[in-house]
Amino acid sequence: MKISETFIPTLREVPADAVIVSHQLMMRAAMMRKLANGLFAYLPLGLRSYRKVESIIREEMDAIGALEIKPPVVVPGEIWKESGRWETMGEGMLRVKNRLGNDFVVSPTAEEAFTALVRDELNSYRQLPLTLYQINTKYRDEIRPRYGVMRGREFTMKDAYSFHTDDESLDKTYQAMGRAYRRIFQRCGLTVIPVRADTGAMGGTGSEEFMVESEIGDNTLILCKDCDYAANVEKAACKPDFTSPASLDVAKAAAAATPSITKIETPSVRTIEELCAFLKTDAKSFIKTLVYKALNVELDLSSAPGCAKLEKHASAPDAPKTYPEAFFAVAIRGDLDVNETKLAAVLKASEVMLASDVDVERLTGAPVGFAGPVGLTGLPVVADETVTAMADAVTGALAKDLHYAHVAYGRDFTPWLVADVRTVKAGDRCALCGGELYEKKGNELGHIFKLGYKYTKSMNVTYLDEAGKTQIPTMGCYGIGVDRTLASIIEEHHDQDGIVWPMSVAPYHVILVPIKYDGAVKETTDRIEAELIKQGVEVLVDDRDERPGVKFKDADLIGIPLRVVIGEKNLPKVEVKLRKEKDNRLLEVNEAIQDLVSLVRQELAKLNA
Ligand code: ATP
Ligand code: MG
Repeated sequence: MKISETFIPTLREVPADAVIVSHQLMMRAAMMRKLANGLFAYLPLGLRSYRKVESIIREEMDAIGALEIKPPVVVPGEIWKESGRWETMGEGMLRVKNRLGNDFVVSPTAEEAFTALVRDELNSYRQLPLTLYQINTKYRDEIRPRYGVMRGREFTMKDAYSFHTDDESLDKTYQAMGRAYRRIFQRCGLTVIPVRADTGAMGGTGSEEFMVESEIGDNTLILCKDCDYAANVEKAACKPDFTSPASLDVAKAAAAATPSITKIETPSVRTIEELCAFLKTDAKSFIKTLVYKALNVELDLSSAPGCAKLEKHASAPDAPKTYPEAFFAVAIRGDLDVNETKLAAVLKASEVMLASDVDVERLTGAPVGFAGPVGLTGLPVVADETVTAMADAVTGALAKDLHYAHVAYGRDFTPWLVADVRTVKAGDRCALCGGELYEKKGNELGHIFKLGYKYTKSMNVTYLDEAGKTQIPTMGCYGIGVDRTLASIIEEHHDQDGIVWPMSVAPYHVILVPIKYDGAVKETTDRIEAELIKQGVEVLVDDRDERPGVKFKDADLIGIPLRVVIGEKNLPKVEVKLRKEKDNRLLEVNEAIQDLVSLVRQELAKLNA
């Protein structure tokens, strides 16, 4: 392809709104242009690399027996009402009405669509397992689209959904997906960190995220210095730094040595730090109590304190019953933070947030800063596991300027629920080996997930088993962001001059740069181009009437892995250079062609190994 015949409007300046390298380079190298916030158009060069990422994903999906289909992007609102997610998806989901006033959704993900499609076709266990996938447009009305296609509003996802008769079959596909994902990222030249991921809000039972390390990463990863434990902080557990009593009775017995609970005056003391200074102890002896509002709670709250009259969502008859809104008091050791994702998972809530001051006062009867689990009856108390080891603690006394001292878990209060909701941080100890944990920032490229029966149950999917009995299939889902993967490749493969493409995803393998596209130079250039194309190599020719400096700059910017400079003074030799190396070699034309073909093949083989 001749540059003069394609459309590669490279930029010298960095666009003002592009803050990360991949966004800057995708704009400067004319891979894409912005149409509106979070909405990008791929230009010819960008689309070539994009298609290669897509092909790698498709090949690896096909290789494990997943079957590609192409469902619509706009789907009926009806199926989202059946699953119960019409109410719980929130503002991120774009809803539209057609001229008849019917509800539609621009797919942000496609569990509902695939489940509905399979429901209509599934009869017998003989049809299972079944894995279907699409590589298709998604739309999420992100509040803050940023970093170019890393977090766009419209993007492309490969999403696969598998259906099974039992857990063993689901696990087999889940493991095969995990291996396919590792291969996909390797072939793209990416170093990924697979981490244990949050499974909570989606109600799953096993999940892994594929992360790339990134300074601008939205995720915090917790890793162990001594073993291969790696988890998203949203899910990360650590070795307990306390010993809990075996049971409430044991806790009560342990509290026998604790003096009776007493009220203490703490005038104008509100924060834990102020309280520590005032009482001359450290944060570890406080039970911190925070009030949270949880949205779309799927947990059964019929017997929870203060919840008897809670309103429920009116969803389809078989959708899980959810409470649009419920409040919880969360008690945790004073030196720790509540992990809101873990909490949401425990409560089976779509989202949790700190309650407003007004709600705190209404529910605890005290101003903010004086909540505590003792005598709290207006809402359910969720205690972090750390609290169960506290036999002589200080906590708020549900009244202004008052605290309790000598508070014992099990004696002075019993929480409604005990769970692990603490945020693990660097320096905590690994739950597997006791090693020291540390943190990294990461960006999620892919996610594999055992969903279980969540959608097949709510959407009434059934089949007949060997005995002719009606059964419900179990399900897995598996996603990769195509655009985010592409941008991440650039994050990992660039230098100060531009992109340095891995061969597998480069828009072209070789760029030919004739110093002046004329006479003998033109002839040689055309001959090399024709010969390389014959051998399956993708060639871009800079036939523009530009100064050599401009051509070299652009070649570096767009990052084609191999460059050949054809100049009159070197003929019949030409200059061959790898984009990732500094030195070039002068080779006879035929030798150069052979060399280029074998370099392309070698590089591809290395990535595909
Ligand atoms: P995030 O936490 O980054 O918002 P997510 O957990 O909501 O992502 P999933 O629902 O697991 O994302 O979607 C699967 C994949 O789709 C992600 O791993 C990511 O690669 C991609 N993806 C999700 N949202 C976006 C977006 N706004 N722009 C580009 N890619 C996205
Ligand atoms: Mg995810």
